[in-house]
Amino acid sequence: MDLGRDGAPQPPVHARWVVDASGRAGMLKRQLGLAEANDHDANAVWWRVEGLIDPNDWSDDDGWRARCTPPDRWRSTNHMCGTGYWFWLIPLASGAHSLGIVCDAKLHPLDGMDSHDKAMEWLRSRQPRVAAALEGHAVKDFRYLRHFSYGCRRVFGERWALTGEAGLFLDPFYSPGSDFIGIANTFIADLVARDRAGTPFAAHAALYGQLYQSFYDSTMTLYEGQYALFGDEQVLPVKVIWDYTFYWALLAPVFAAGRITDIAMYGRLRPLFERGRALNAAMQPLLREWGERNAAGDAEAPAQGRQLDQHGIDWFHELNRALADALDDDAFDARIAGNIARMEALAAEILARARAVHAGLDGHGLDALLAGLPDPPRSLDAAWYAAA
Ligand SMILES: Cc1cc2nc3c(=O)[nH]c(=O)nc-3n(C[C@H](O)[C@H](O)[C@H](O)COP(=O)(O)OP(=O)(O)OC[C@H]3O[C@@H](n4cnc5c(N)ncnc54)[C@H](O)[C@@H]3O)c2cc1C
Repeated sequence: MDLGRDGAPQPPVHARWVVDASGRAGMLKRQLGLAEANDHDANAVWWRVEGLIDPNDWSDDDGWRARCTPPDRWRSTNHMCGTGYWFWLIPLASGAHSLGIVCDAKLHPLDGMDSHDKAMEWLRSRQPRVAAALEGHAVKDFRYLRHFSYGCRRVFGERWALTGEAGLFLDPFYSPGSDFIGIANTFIADLVARDRAGTPFAAHAALYGQLYQSFYDSTMTLYEGQYALFGDEQVLPVKVIWDYTFYWALLAPVFAAGRITDIAMYGRLRPLFERGRALNAAMQPLLREWGERNAAGDAEAPAQGRQLDQHGIDWFHELNRALADALDDDAFDARIAGNIARMEALAAEILARARAVHAGLDGHGLDALLAGLPDPPRSLDAAWYAAA
């Protein structure tokens, strides 16, 4: 007989299905030996302070302040970025503020930030204005997590399933964790419903597992080996536009349209999904090399201290708004085709931008993928503005 958390004997429990949502405890994953490490070696430390931190206080530039209406930047999750790391500021309903450093383990070893004192010292040298704003705020707690990212060999099986962090976890930037919980739960609910209806579900479990793994693999390309770019003021804003475009073009519309279990749709649109995957698979190393060459100091057109306001890109917020559209099959297929064309245009624009800075930069396969397309647009130009 098993023992419960209080040490008391627990009677066996019988269930038709077991769904593990135990987070990092990974109860079932451990029992089934399904844990799988990945190469995204990143750590996080985080803590809470009493009171709110308002980035608007950090500048007296009226133009910059007026860009946020109402001027309440503190209400957002704010990200402060630098080479190999990002730092979050999240206001909590309790009136406290959550703060966290997420970083590449090699560029910023955990032993340099694994206590509140060390984390503040680290912050003073990288983000002195933020560190100054935190002085005097009472600290409520402090935690850290080493190598927070991991995969899983299998998440859906014979009347068992893993969801959320009980299965796998990518990275907190862009918050894909909640997406993957939603996706896994939708797959699991579908499998349980098939079983309850008395229909076979093993083939679906295998297929959903492959899809889930492919979503994980594709999304991982946004993070693995890319943390050095977080300090590049020229490349990071472009990467963020690209990463969101990739997400809003493919995975997000499939889920938002309630089609994540629509197997016929994956069959119909397979060439488009393959093309989107290939574009992203080429774009990520291009961005990485652009950043590496900037860091090496051989840019022909160095960064000019400008900032990028995503709201200045019309098609970008339309891509996001369109996620709410209700579409029949034909309209949905046409939407995905249009989204791929949008990715192609953006890829061509980014490639041209990168080569304007580093002539002859390797396209990592983009030249072949984009051959025959019209001259790249300049859709990002309107979004750049002079820094405060
Ligand atoms: C550094 C970092 C920062 C993040 N920041 C954000 C963010 O800002 N926004 C965001 O949306 N997401 C964020 N995430 C992701 C988010 O935390 C996860 O996606 C989410 O918490 C995972 O939810 P879950 O239900 O899978 O696991 P959990 O939230 O860990 O829930 C698992 C639950 O199972 C319980 N449990 C475990 N073992 C047992 C047992 N034996 N019996 C009973 N219960 C048990 C645990 O107590 C827990 O309540 C972040 C993740 C990390 C690593």
